[in-house]
Amino acid sequence: MDWTWILIGSLVIFAGWYWWSASRWHADRQAGLSLRNIPPEYLKGLNYVLNEQQDKAIEIFIKMLEVDSDTVETHLALGHLFRRRGETDRAIRIHQNLIARPNLGEDERLLALLELGMDYMSSGLLDRAESLFKELSATRTYAIQAHQKLLEIYQQEKEWDKAIVIAQKLQSLNGQDLNAVIAQFYCELADQGQSAGNTASAQQHIRKALTIDPDCIRASLLEGKSARREGKTGLALKTFQRVEKQDPDYLPEVIAVIVACYRDLGQIEDCMQYLRYIVSKYGGMTPLLHLTRLIEETHGEKAAVTYISQELKRRPSVRGVDKLIEYALAMAEGEIRDNLQTIKEMTGKLLSGSPVYKCEHCGFDAKLLHWHCPSCKQWSTIKPVLGVVGE
Ligand SMILES: [Zn+2]
Repeated sequence: MDWTWILIGSLVIFAGWYWWSASRWHADRQAGLSLRNIPPEYLKGLNYVLNEQQDKAIEIFIKMLEVDSDTVETHLALGHLFRRRGETDRAIRIHQNLIARPNLGEDERLLALLELGMDYMSSGLLDRAESLFKELSATRTYAIQAHQKLLEIYQQEKEWDKAIVIAQKLQSLNGQDLNAVIAQFYCELADQGQSAGNTASAQQHIRKALTIDPDCIRASLLEGKSARREGKTGLALKTFQRVEKQDPDYLPEVIAVIVACYRDLGQIEDCMQYLRYIVSKYGGMTPLLHLTRLIEETHGEKAAVTYISQELKRRPSVRGVDKLIEYALAMAEGEIRDNLQTIKEMTGKLLSGSPVYKCEHCGFDAKLLHWHCPSCKQWSTIKPVLGVVGE
């Protein structure tokens, strides 16, 4: 059972108590509400909610509304259920009717507004949702929820400037540390600036990202690429190498460009020394394969084959075997060559069918590195996959 059902259950219990109290108070005057027949309906409705039987729960709530259309809690519970079932039009109607009541208390009106805002979000009417949440963000009761919803809206709309302002307000409201997320918003702005050809704006946003979150890998990658574009290869190299200290899980993302910087600087020996250090400290096939290629270039194919064979005994890897077969193929002839070709095709298929990245939060598999998980919408949770088939 998730929190929604607990919330609905609580609403039903509250509505039951409310109705029961009201009935007792007016028992002498109101013949229509009898204590003898109402409580069993509530118990039944509650039971359906607890058993996740939405259809039957809705039936009970509708009957309750027929008996007493003034019950605010029943409207809210019913609207919530409709939204949960994807019937947002009906949820919107229920909440709009509720808000239109002249005698509605302020607390109840605000709660109904919050629910209506969520209905609008579910139906993709983000402009309407935004204006409701803006109104609620100024209240004491729903300031935090309204800011959280506004943050969701601005991320969906890719309005990063507004998202930054709201995230900063949210931090001051509930003390939540959102610096890593705000840094991602600055990186989004840097990306936009870069795409528009505005290098100065891009660099400014990268600096802001790194000021607010010095461990922001994405900002380091953007900074390194920017330095490389400007021909500052030494600076670019240092920037990319920073990733090791920020989060070594992302090293596979920068190894190729680090090797390229060393090549541009003509420092192949230094590059090999660096790769040996990375391989010994963190493992991973990307640095190992780059190192193998450099050994081949500087010491010949035989030395490369010896090196990769030894390393593969220590850390089995499909990518490593694939590379080894490539070397073997170059030297093989006849039937052996055909067999090796078949094995190479198999390793190729195995690698192409495997996810390269995975979300640590929800398990989403990806072929590309997303900074914002398309599935769970968390930031910086997608990382290169480790293991025999992965990195
Ligand atoms: Zn995810």
